[in-house]
Amino acid sequence: MIRLAHPSIGQAEKDAVARVLASGMLAQGPEVAAFEEEFSSIVEGRQCIAVNSGTSALHLSLLAAGIGPGDEVIVPSFTFAATANAVRLCGADVVFADIEPDTYGLAPRAVEAALTPRTAAILPVHLYGHPANMGALGRIADRHGLLVVEDAAQAHAAALDGRAVGTFGHLAAFSFYPTKNMTTGEGGMVVTDDADLARRVRLLRNQGMEARYQNEVVGLNNRMTDIGAAIGRVQLTRLAGWNEQRRSNAEALSRGLVGVDVPTVGPGVTHVYHQYTVRCRDRATLSAHLESAGVQSDVYYPVPVHRLPSFGLDLDLPETERAAAEVLSLPVHPGLSREGVDRIVEVVSAARGKGA
Ligand SMILES: *Cc1c(COP(=O)(O)O)cnc(C)c1O
Repeated sequence: MIRLAHPSIGQAEKDAVARVLASGMLAQGPEVAAFEEEFSSIVEGRQCIAVNSGTSALHLSLLAAGIGPGDEVIVPSFTFAATANAVRLCGADVVFADIEPDTYGLAPRAVEAALTPRTAAILPVHLYGHPANMGALGRIADRHGLLVVEDAAQAHAAALDGRAVGTFGHLAAFSFYPTKNMTTGEGGMVVTDDADLARRVRLLRNQGMEARYQNEVVGLNNRMTDIGAAIGRVQLTRLAGWNEQRRSNAEALSRGLVGVDVPTVGPGVTHVYHQYTVRCRDRATLSAHLESAGVQSDVYYPVPVHRLPSFGLDLDLPETERAAAEVLSLPVHPGLSREGVDRIVEVVSAARGKGA
């Protein structure tokens, strides 16, 4: 069985967790502080605030920036539901816009068409580890005085013209869920270069208090544990190598695969291949063939967020619908061997003979 995702947990992670357990300090403490400091090295020294999930990172980013009832936030519908959920849970209105078909990122033209006097923010997603079109989106935001929050949950250390994702927006949110490019078990990180926003996120993460029993605002408990942070610190040291391995696997797949459209890499893009996602004509046949050959594959995402029962909207987003119908993600994780890559290429080619 060639698995689609496989978190890599080694002896160093086990030792790090044992060290925290032995210390008796399990909740947010020195490991979280060290992890925040170390993570800032992949976002050009911006301030980092560790939280308990990527969803919390998005939610607290928006809350800290004052997004709330009466505001509209433009998001892609071709994403994980968390992107839109975070907006809705702030009481703001989600405005879904279409994507660019080659990179799956928010389409600047669609964003422009979706602007209203109530638009307060744009929330681009760096889907599959490919940066969204931050140049054009940033210019729209500047022109209209909008907040930009990056959903970088799938894009640790991805870059555009040498600039890391997480450094384009006013705020950015990373996730450390086990299937992401690095993990803390569950976890997330807010990144910002604005000291006031950073302070507000820190308050919101911890019941609204900096000093005990001096709660300044109404907040949540969205703290990361020292156990998770200790894992994350080890994982961070391995991230660059893992991303290199993902790119090398992706390049080998793209050289070998026939009968499917392989992923596009935009100019100046450093892709980190959270997913290696192809487009195919007959996805059902191809995925059934892969499954019977012992190769896991999956669809991210079969139902656009606007059509999920939680949002239940009927919108005209043609590129979103086409992507949802055509995409299929194949294994690309760093644990995938060269033989595994060859096997995937072989199985996809054989499927083509059977009509996929
Ligand atoms: C994983 C993910 C999230 C949410 O992160 P969690 O850590 O699972 O809460 C948000 N947005 C995108 C695009 C994701 O892939």
